[in-house]
Amino acid sequence: MSKRTFSIGGVHPHDNKISRECALEQLPLAPKVYIQLSQHIGAPAKPVVAVGDKVKVGQPIAEPGGFVSAFIHSSVSGTVKAIGPVKDLAGNSQMCVEIEVEGDEWADGIDTTPTLVTEIPADNKAIIEKIRLGGVVGLGGATFPTHVKLSPPPGSTCERVIINGCECEPYLTSDFRTLLEKGEQVVVGAAILRQVMGNVPCTIAIEENKPEAIAHIREVIARLGYQGIEVMSMKMRYPQGGEKQLIDAVMRRQVGSGALPISVGAVVQNVATALAVYEAVQKNKPVVDNSVTVTGECFPRQANLIVRVGTPLKYIIDYLGGVPADAVKVISGGPMMGRAVANLDAPTLKGTSALLFLTEKQTKRAPASACIRCGKCADACPMGLEPFLLNRLAKASDMEALENNAVQDCIECGCCLYSCPANIPLLDNIRIAKGQVLGAIRARAAAAQAKK
Ligand code: SF4
Ligand code: SF4
Repeated sequence: MSKRTFSIGGVHPHDNKISRECALEQLPLAPKVYIQLSQHIGAPAKPVVAVGDKVKVGQPIAEPGGFVSAFIHSSVSGTVKAIGPVKDLAGNSQMCVEIEVEGDEWADGIDTTPTLVTEIPADNKAIIEKIRLGGVVGLGGATFPTHVKLSPPPGSTCERVIINGCECEPYLTSDFRTLLEKGEQVVVGAAILRQVMGNVPCTIAIEENKPEAIAHIREVIARLGYQGIEVMSMKMRYPQGGEKQLIDAVMRRQVGSGALPISVGAVVQNVATALAVYEAVQKNKPVVDNSVTVTGECFPRQANLIVRVGTPLKYIIDYLGGVPADAVKVISGGPMMGRAVANLDAPTLKGTSALLFLTEKQTKRAPASACIRCGKCADACPMGLEPFLLNRLAKASDMEALENNAVQDCIECGCCLYSCPANIPLLDNIRIAKGQVLGAIRARAAAAQAKK
């Protein structure tokens, strides 16, 4: 099969997948977990437990706070010690359920055996309900509730499900290891997703720097005998895993400004989400853990850990030998789209994919100089934006012009920053402006709604 990629912009950072040989490894339980009530896009979940309650692994501890929201489950067995604010990665207060761990007792009905269940239930409505009850959200970083994505609005039709196995962010290898070690479960998850969307074709897109995963998933599909699922080998290019970029690469269709993938007939799910769908539907297992790459040239022991949701970052880091002396920055996620961690006591979330340690040399940016109007940032932007212009408008706080120039379409990929020879902090400035413009758009929509 020919190698595909998206058509506009993009960059080629070194992939630095130095943890690729690290097999998935279960992290021992921490003494306490702090499970955040808002770890998905949409309304925060509302707690359904009280201080002093005994909980088991997989028991719901919070219910959705709206249509776009998700169930949250206890990731451990033990006693609820507190429900209150805890500082997150950025140091902001977030409501959390604090649970002291006692043993590892799972809620009734969850199949914790490794037996692969390949027979898919016929009732699609029941499948979506299981996904909803399992608290499944997009685990590729977007954390959009999966049951909502699988229920397209009237008039929209899905023509293809795409499973994003690109993992184009440098350093990250947890999806790669999942494809290699849990490929069967991912393929069954993909088969469930294509069935739910109307037995449409499904493409599992994997970048060419993971030939073992491509070969393994092809072999699994043939062995399990599922029809309508193919593997597409993709050219390496960042940000191939962006939803709109992947749809362009696989289907040659462009998702318009402000539109959803379903508008062009696509539903995109990440590899980890396909696994979570398998677990929720076939094993009754809600999202209580996820795989996290811990990496960086300065880090003493690279790892791909299976971590219970709500585990303090410090516990993970100490398990692997502690923060290296020469590390000056910890990033949650990859170097391109990740966020700096300001608080190592913060807990992991369903969408935590990696912890990356960087040295001073790796983080040092040369001082910014004046824009030389080279246009490299615009050439690199996969959304067809003009980052130099957005940056100028952001500095002038010209919200109207920012909106007219589609700052809200920015996917915060960092390609502009990566390409800029003048070292202008384009992403930082554009990200702030985007937040302000989106805030204004939401306020306008709320005011218009109130008038009705
Ligand atoms: S961060 Fe935004 S403006 Fe910059 S290249 Fe990516 S999409 Fe374009
Ligand atoms: S890449 Fe940097 S220097 Fe070149 S046009 Fe964009 S902002 Fe200006």
